[in-house]
Amino acid sequence: SKIKDMSAEVVDNNPYSRLMALQRMGVVENYERIRDYSVAIVGIGGVGSVAAEMLTRCGIGRLLLYDYDTVELANMNRLFFRPEQVGMTKTDAAVQTLSGINPDVVLESYSLNITTVKGFETFLASLKAQSSHERSTGVDLVLSCVDNYEARMVVNQACNELGQTWMESGVSEDAVSGHIQLLVPGETACFACAPPLVVASGVDERTLKREGVCAASLPTTMGVVAGLLVQNALKYLLNFGQVSPYLGYNSLKDYFPAMEMRPNPQCSNPACVQRQKEYMDSKPARDAAAKTK
Ligand code: ATP
Ligand code: ZN
Repeated sequence: SKIKDMSAEVVDNNPYSRLMALQRMGVVENYERIRDYSVAIVGIGGVGSVAAEMLTRCGIGRLLLYDYDTVELANMNRLFFRPEQVGMTKTDAAVQTLSGINPDVVLESYSLNITTVKGFETFLASLKAQSSHERSTGVDLVLSCVDNYEARMVVNQACNELGQTWMESGVSEDAVSGHIQLLVPGETACFACAPPLVVASGVDERTLKREGVCAASLPTTMGVVAGLLVQNALKYLLNFGQVSPYLGYNSLKDYFPAMEMRPNPQCSNPACVQRQKEYMDSKPARDAAAKTK
């Protein structure tokens, strides 16, 4: 007959079979491993909230969410939050939406300021804590999605102390460019090793953060940066493709500068210098392991 039987094509409503196809097509070796991973996201704003949603829809095992702010009507020019969530803490509002999208993800909400003494202690302890969810201790990756220098320096400090790999992200004050960066303590430049590119653009952050001065915002640029960030995170966690050490995004020219930054032996962060020393000391062992491969 000429009538094609469509029943076989419509039965499969499981969203995971689409993700598992990545395995059948040879893109990733074992997609299911995503359920074993824990990711911490610091800053649940324009970039962090979208990154959290992407990881939730990909079936990540556990997400730890940090932010000190509440949802405002002014945030509606970005993605993710909804008007009826105004007044809720960003982390609680995120848990509400994300658990509705995928109830299998273990979600932890931390409404705190990571730059205060108490906030930093809780932040550090939560990154180290053993979760009932998976076999390993702590988290597999930290994503920084904050919008200020001080908070980035604090994430840098925590990750250097723990030897924790993390990825940094940022959108420029004029909202038309952004970047993502991979930071592996001891192995790549840390956030204190090089003058940060966000600040090196010549604009003083303090001037821009003045009362009444409002930074520009575009959901497009923030969505692109969140996509680049989570793509890099998936490649790192599931071990496919090439993980970008640094990737910029200039929306006006559709230019994506890429580069790599080595650690600075004179870095002002003592934990960074310590991790650099450990990395150098482990070089013979790494070389030997590479030879037997
Ligand atoms: P804007 O500053 O442009 O008004 P925003 O504060 O929502 O907006 P985003 O760039 O969208 O900025 O997101 C950054 C997020 O990082 C915010 O939700 C902010 O609350 C959070 N954040 C910044 N610093 C800290 C900190 N020290 N501790 C916890 N969360 C932080
Ligand atoms: Zn450093």
